[in-house]
Amino acid sequence: MTRSIRRLAPETASRIAAGEVVERPLSALKELLENALDAGARSIEVRVERSLDHAFSVADDGHGIAAAELELALERHCTSKLESLDDLDRLASLGFRGEALPSIAAVSRLALASRPAGERAGATISAEGGTVVARASAARAPGTTVEVRDLFFNTPARRKFMGSPAGELRAALRLLEAYALAFPEVTLRLLVDGKERLHWPAAAAAAGMAARRERAAALWTARHAGQLIEARGEREGVVVEALLGLPEHARATREGQVFLVNRRWVQSPLLGAALRQAYGNLIPPGRFPSATLWLTVPAARLDVNVHPTKREVRFADDERVFSLVASACAKPLSGLQPPFTVVPGGAAADRTAYPAWADRVNERPPDQTYLGLDLPPPPAGSAPAAAAPAAAEPELWQLHRTYILAPVRGGLVIVDQHAAHERILYEEALQRLEGERGTAQQLLFPALVDLTNDQFELLLELGPDLRQLGWDLSLLGPPTVVIQGIPSGFRHERPGQLLQDVLDGMNEGTGRAAPEDLAHRLASSWACHAATRAGDPLTQEEMRALVDRLFATSRPHGDPHGRTTFVRLELDELHRRFGRT
Ligand code: ADP
Ligand code: MG
Repeated sequence: MTRSIRRLAPETASRIAAGEVVERPLSALKELLENALDAGARSIEVRVERSLDHAFSVADDGHGIAAAELELALERHCTSKLESLDDLDRLASLGFRGEALPSIAAVSRLALASRPAGERAGATISAEGGTVVARASAARAPGTTVEVRDLFFNTPARRKFMGSPAGELRAALRLLEAYALAFPEVTLRLLVDGKERLHWPAAAAAAGMAARRERAAALWTARHAGQLIEARGEREGVVVEALLGLPEHARATREGQVFLVNRRWVQSPLLGAALRQAYGNLIPPGRFPSATLWLTVPAARLDVNVHPTKREVRFADDERVFSLVASACAKPLSGLQPPFTVVPGGAAADRTAYPAWADRVNERPPDQTYLGLDLPPPPAGSAPAAAAPAAAEPELWQLHRTYILAPVRGGLVIVDQHAAHERILYEEALQRLEGERGTAQQLLFPALVDLTNDQFELLLELGPDLRQLGWDLSLLGPPTVVIQGIPSGFRHERPGQLLQDVLDGMNEGTGRAAPEDLAHRLASSWACHAATRAGDPLTQEEMRALVDRLFATSRPHGDPHGRTTFVRLELDELHRRFGRT
């Protein structure tokens, strides 16, 4: 079963996608994990000391490396998995380039220890910055352990572009999850600073969907796994199998999606689009279904040699794969009802319903500067400002459930309800994070939420901040959390989804997170997901509160991303246009 490691012929080596293999600490872990899986391991243990860039190791019980070949394993373009490019058409392994170990060794202090199955003893070698500095024989169980210390110690410039250690560890959880789903028959364990963080025993079921469901239950709780919908389709040798999340499990990012092609974890806009198509209007725009897809494609009709990190693949026939995945996944979803209501109107309807002159309202951009805003006093004899204005004479109007029209002295202000609410919640959140804790609004029925493992990890980190915002949460064994209360001051029907969206929103944008902007990130993610949306109907009182609170913020002109919150139309401008001057 063990093939020997050989140097690729130069002409073969030159046609292997070249480039950076070890972009970040996570890539090093990914390569070592793939090597262990390629070696036929039944059990893999990952140990992290402090952070991935400080030290980590991957130990497996696979077929091992012959003592005489350890040095070769650290040499570029030396691999036991490929002899010629033609072999790519029959490829059954995750690796094939013979570049991972040498690339990692070049930027770290690496120790490689191995004992081939059937040998009586093993050997170890250590390298620093790619140079072998020590060799010894070693007593150990059959299998291989690779330890990587001080990653990027000799390339300080690279260190600067590294994500936060905590972010990198969360990404590692996603990686382990993905490969756990791809290889349900392999036991996976992760220890951080000696403490067990996860342990997924090999599935008892031999293979197929039964084993995958078992794995999903280990990853996300049996309750969550039980809700996943199974899909299957096959066409011309391509097989797709899937576990699809319910529409209400859709997330604000693509992080709930795992695509496995011939057991390789890949990114694929094509598969993402096919999945989205399958859900149709079951999911509102801007959200992404959660799902795991297992694709089996004949090796000859799949190009894995596209990208140095092997995260991308190319199908010989994109369209066929797209339609197979979209139709296979749509089938079991067809009986479900959309969990949201469609807003009547909307931008497209506006365009067709109005006469042609309506386009001309955009002729001149309105003035966007904010100059002291005076709401006109209530008409004489009406109720005091605190009471609700009489319904018959609304002072504010909601336009297309998106904009609030507010007459002001000397003109009219048009407020974008979502952007305005974002600004308000953002400032409020920052105040709560830096000062007095926000109050919680207790839920009548505490909500039980199954988070993903990376969301749970993030929750552990952000716990105190979330409490400061007004969340009342208790942890119920990873990855389940009980929501007892949510920050007071607004309504929200799905607290669990809100919590997940806020956590997911923390990862949006750049991969780098300086600790000092954590508060800013949390505040803007909270604001973005908790804010009322375009399409939400608002009452008079809600509109009034929103406008009042907007203009009480420090920067009413824009939301936290810099988008405009309101525009002002001057009465003078209207007079001029109507020829009244
Ligand atoms: P590739 O995986 O593309 O072949 P690598 O640089 O990752 O290249 O590894 C080089 C070679 O070292 C592999 O082809 C394999 O023979 C051997 N090897 C690496 N890791 C392991 C492992 N965990 N168990 C057994 N052999 C391994
Ligand atoms: Mg490899």
